[in-house]
Amino acid sequence: MVSPSKRAAKKVLRSKDRRIYIKEKPAKTRCALCDKKLHGVPNRCRSELAKLAKTEKRPERPFGGVLCGTCTTRVVKAETRVKHGLMAKSDVDFRVLKYMRK
Ligand SMILES: [Zn+2]
Repeated sequence: MVSPSKRAAKKVLRSKDRRIYIKEKPAKTRCALCDKKLHGVPNRCRSELAKLAKTEKRPERPFGGVLCGTCTTRVVKAETRVKHGLMAKSDVDFRVLKYMRK
C-alpha cells in the first residue's frame, strides 16, 4: 500500500515498476485584495518555514505578508482621510474597510 501522505503527491513513472513521488511546493502567497503575488514571503513547506527567523517569513511593515504595497497604500490613505474627516466611512471600498482600524 502506498503511504497515505503520498496518495495526493504528483507521480512520475520512470520504468515499468518504478514510480517517483515529486514533492510539490506550496502555492505562492497572494495579496488579499488584488491577488498579486507577494514579494518577500517564502513559499516553503511548514517544517522548512519553522526553521526561518520571524523576520524572514514576511516583510516587517504594516500588512506585511497579507497585502501588497499598492493595497497597503490604499488602506492607509483611506484610513487617514476618514480620520481627518475628508472622506466618509461609507465612501470607502468595502474590501478596504475590512483592513482599517476601528
Ligand atoms: Zn494588492
